[in-house]
Amino acid sequence: MDVDRLISDRARAVDASGIRRVFDLGAKLKNPINLSIGQPDFAVPAEIKQAAIDAINADHNGYTPTQGIAPLRARLERELTHDVGWTPGEQSGLLVTTGTSGALVLAFMCLIGPGDEAVIPDPYFVLYPHLATMCGGRAVRCDTYPDFRLTTERVEPLITERTKLVLLNSPSNPAGAVLSEQECRDLLDLCRARNVLLISDEIYDQFTYAEARTQSRPGDRSPACPSPAREAGADRDVLLVRGFGKTYGVTGWRMGYAAGPRPLIEQMAKLQQYTYVCAPTPAQHASITALDVDMSAHIAEYQRRRDRVVERLSAVTEIKTPGGAFYAFVKIPDRLGISATAFVDRCVERSLLVIPGGVFSDRDTHIRLSFATDPVALDRGLDILVDLMSA
Ligand code: PMP
Repeated sequence: MDVDRLISDRARAVDASGIRRVFDLGAKLKNPINLSIGQPDFAVPAEIKQAAIDAINADHNGYTPTQGIAPLRARLERELTHDVGWTPGEQSGLLVTTGTSGALVLAFMCLIGPGDEAVIPDPYFVLYPHLATMCGGRAVRCDTYPDFRLTTERVEPLITERTKLVLLNSPSNPAGAVLSEQECRDLLDLCRARNVLLISDEIYDQFTYAEARTQSRPGDRSPACPSPAREAGADRDVLLVRGFGKTYGVTGWRMGYAAGPRPLIEQMAKLQQYTYVCAPTPAQHASITALDVDMSAHIAEYQRRRDRVVERLSAVTEIKTPGGAFYAFVKIPDRLGISATAFVDRCVERSLLVIPGGVFSDRDTHIRLSFATDPVALDRGLDILVDLMSA
């Protein structure tokens, strides 16, 4: 059978060749210094692992309600009330999802159809442009160079009568950019004025470094990542998407959640029922435990690594200090006169793996390096980058 002939235009339209090339390079290298990885390198806290084991042993292995198990929902509702001042109720709802990706896929399926547009940042997380095209719509890329901030000034000219949503990712992948509270507020004001939904992908919210945090939230806890979700009435106008994978080092558990306007959450829950059905059951149980685990020592360690990356590389190139996440998006010095892809080839010759910016962007002028790796390997990688960039 000619199965190739049967493949849909939708599947064909997704081009994953850039990232695949990096994976292929990585597979060929023996013991590479791998600064391409998008997940934390710390060990999952023992009590979180134990909670998952206990859940399996207690026979929590079947389906759950599509919305998520009641005790996790109750714990998340407390979290939302405390962190962003929301009380899920009449206006807003909450859905436990299969990873952050699950929440984003469902949101796009419920908002984007043929002809519709979604404004996304450029550079972007690799899934973003495809979310729109898979739904028959179009991702409109907002150029955020050189500081990678999705500001109102940059977004405003891109909104048309076809725009359904603006997708904010702060702290961002691949640049670690964190919006200020004022920038979040302005973006939400713009979206409200144009009747466009603001989706806030906050998967890296816990990885926000000291100077990018804000004090002003309804609770009394330590300063947090600025978020448009904290504005008055935001539960009706913002879809907040958060995850467990990065925060607790459990990316394979596929756990996330979405909270926001009730009519949208209800549609998303309906589609989840017929697709993912529910988030993984043992992981839902263990996530209740995870929410009470303090990860601040790990965050402090990542901040030290971030400082080290900026200190070493700012001597040889332009680098915006990442306010969050665990990536730096580093410009290839103009004097080298080469693309990021060509620069990555030079890195690979030295057994160093980083990702060329063209994988995340219309431009191929930067590399993404991840500092979620052990400090010795990170230092060796930085030595090579400094050497190659000074050439
Ligand atoms: N959003 C961003 C910005 C990401 O970087 C990632 C993962 N790299 C995701 C969403 C997807 O996360 P999950 O594994 O929870 O689906």
